Amino acid sequence: MSGSVKKRDRLAVSRPTEGAAGQTGSWRVFKPVVDKEKCNECGLCAMYCPDGAIDEDLMVDLRFCKGCGICANECPKKAIAMVREEK
Ligand code: SF4
Ligand code: SF4
Repeated sequence: MSGSVKKRDRLAVSRPTEGAAGQTGSWRVFKPVVDKEKCNECGLCAMYCPDGAIDEDLMVDLRFCKGCGICANECPKKAIAMVREEK
């Protein structure tokens, strides 16, 4: 998608860190899975993620994702499914 670079330029850039909540470990119950067919690359999920776990390429860094589901809740295209982790 050629216009997506410009959209991503508007994203607030924050990076997950080792401090505060830090890396998630193995306790997460659900993880977000993005349906790329539905996604319009608006970047809202990345802006709302409290852990900064979604980067400017809209990839979820599961090392830091807490599985809170905020991204899925805010996605206007309902492109994110929260899927139970396999243990
Ligand atoms: S909020 Fe939804 S539509 Fe927007 S970039 Fe994220 S997954 Fe894609
Ligand atoms: S589930 Fe929560 S922590 Fe994980 S990517 Fe979505 S908003 Fe961020």
